Amino acid sequence: MKISCNIIRDLLPLYAEDLASEDTRALVDEHLHECEDCTNVLNTIKQGTPVPVERAPESLNKVKKIIRDNHKEFTAEKKAEIMKEIGDVLWYCATLSHDLGYTLDEVAQTNVDKLRSRMERQKITGSGDNR
Ligand SMILES: [Zn+2]
Repeated sequence: MKISCNIIRDLLPLYAEDLASEDTRALVDEHLHECEDCTNVLNTIKQGTPVPVERAPESLNKVKKIIRDNHKEFTAEKKAEIMKEIGDVLWYCATLSHDLGYTLDEVAQTNVDKLRSRMERQKITGSGDNR
């Protein structure tokens, strides 16, 4: 079976992060050797913004510590600290959105629409990303 570009592109993030098995790596190498489009996609991934999954909880941890240590008192200094963390998260969100071809307005509007739809369908509580 010939491996399609779509399959290769599913594998490229693992390949780029050096997390693919030896067999996968060999398969991707072979494909890249003869496919310029996928090679370009790989280069884009390699240059891409690293997704800082560890950033968001940092601001939440500051909030948690205030609740634990400061008896829920948000001083001006603490608020300013959290605001700076939110700024970092926002910057990463803006960069990631841009890289994916969305504006932050589109991301925000999609989220508002999603939450409104859940509310109308009485699905605001519970779990799952696609309620
Ligand atoms: Zn390809």
